[in-house]
Amino acid sequence: MFEERLHSIRERIAEAAIRTGRRPEDVRLLAVTKGVGMDAIREAMDLGQTLFGENYVQEAVAREKAMGGYFRRLTWHFIGHLQTNKARRACELFDCIETVDCRRLLDAICRAATPGFPVYVQVNLGREPQKAGILPEDLRRFVEETAGLSQVRIAGLMAIPPYSEDPESTRGFFRRLRELRDELNETLMKGRQISELSMGMSHDFEVAIEEGATIVRVGTALFGPRNAR
Ligand SMILES: *Cc1c(COP(=O)(O)O)cnc(C)c1O
Repeated sequence: MFEERLHSIRERIAEAAIRTGRRPEDVRLLAVTKGVGMDAIREAMDLGQTLFGENYVQEAVAREKAMGGYFRRLTWHFIGHLQTNKARRACELFDCIETVDCRRLLDAICRAATPGFPVYVQVNLGREPQKAGILPEDLRRFVEETAGLSQVRIAGLMAIPPYSEDPESTRGFFRRLRELRDELNETLMKGRQISELSMGMSHDFEVAIEEGATIVRVGTALFGPRNAR
């Protein structure tokens, strides 16, 4: 059952990529495992899934304990809200922090990370007060001010656009994130290009891919509804 869901999502990812003239291998599936049992993670791993996302540092700590050496064979992205005082632990456990949303957090990551540690900047595209993220109009200055930091590398942008039942109405937000990345890349120095766009979830990842997503974060469509795991 899980196997079928995983195959079907991989297929839909490939089709969405091809529809817009992209290569399927340029879009990565990040399996969001918040609240998911270890069995499901092992099953995903056995089926070749290597990229996983967690929202809580504590949950990753538990995963590492449960998985032993296998934890390190997988790639883990942090996709939740990170408190500054957990940055050090997060840098040990995760291969990338996708949700950098303020300078204070970025500085904490710099103090903890190994040189070149990849981070993404979270952008609050819908300007929603309850959501984290740098406002679109502040993004350029935020990125420019990181130019001197050698410990981190801004490798991507990440966003959670306002929810809508109809994925088509989210398309404009996805497009905006791509435009923001492209605008930054046009003016950034060579060698500091931002390539990744982490956007799209279970109900709208195809539209996100059509608009340029390089990583889609999928939970429910893989593992079922959160209250039923
Ligand atoms: C939970 C979560 C997802 C996955 O959402 P689904 O709708 O279950 O696919 C993606 N991104 C973030 C940041 C999340 O917290």
